[in-house]
Parts: sequence; structure tokens; C-alpha cells
Amino acid sequence: MDIKKAMEILRENGYKNTSQRKIILDVICKQKRPYKANEIFNMVSEATSGINFSTVYRNLELFLNLGIINKISLNESFNYYELSTGKHRHHIICKLCGVVKEIDLCPFKDMEISELEKLGFEPKEHKFEIYGICSKCKNNMIK
Ligand SMILES: [Zn+2]
Ligand SMILES: [Zn+2]
Repeated sequence: MDIKKAMEILRENGYKNTSQRKIILDVICKQKRPYKANEIFNMVSEATSGINFSTVYRNLELFLNLGIINKISLNESFNYYELSTGKHRHHIICKLCGVVKEIDLCPFKDMEISELEKLGFEPKEHKFEIYGICSKCKNNMIK
């Protein structure tokens, strides 16, 4: 997924590529990690004035519905958004600062799928998150 593809999806679904949408997509495409809606709003505000939080939030929900971005829900108050990559991933989350990073490992790969098959169950998807303390917060604690 990139900004070109995202705009194509919008167009195909009958949505206009407004300059505000372009700026929001641009911010999301440049992000290195999943961000909360208010973090995305802050970055969008830096790029353009006169955009309010509800506009940004409505567009995030639209991008989500169109599969342009993914939402990672850690609990009711923490939703993170990231660009869809189609890649299977899991996340590590810092309990102190809330920073989220993706990791390459998937514990499900090593699981006994045959155990689920015995139950007649066909797994389609799963979620897995590791909570802990990030290196930055750990360094701050030592000081
Ligand atoms: Zn941290
Ligand atoms: Zn997995």
C-alpha cells in the first residue's frame, strides 16, 4: 500500500481525493510505527491548518473500511492506525509510554495446528501482543 494505491481505492469507491485526505494519507504513509488518532491529528495539523480532529478521525475510519489502513486495538482507549501491508504481523507495546512496534515473529507458526484440527476447528486469524517496557523507558528508569 502506498499513497497512489490508496487514492486509487478511494476513487474506485466513489470518494474524492480531497487535499485534506491527501495530507492525512501522506502522514500515514510516512509513519514508521502505528500511531494513535490524536498523534496523526497532530502531524496533520502541522502540515495544514483548519482541519479538525473529527475530520481526521472520520477519514481514518473511512480508510479503515476501505482496507487502506489497519487498526490495532489494545483496549478501548488505545487504538493505533497503520498502513495496510497485507503482511502478517504482531506487536510489542510499552506499558509505560504506550509506544507500539511491529515484530517479525509469529508464535502461531509453532503451534500445534493439528490440535485445532482435532476439534474440527479451522483457524482463520489470530491476535498476539506482547506488553513490556521499551528500551527508552528502561534507560530513563536507570538514570
Ligand atoms: Zn516506553
Ligand atoms: Zn501470527
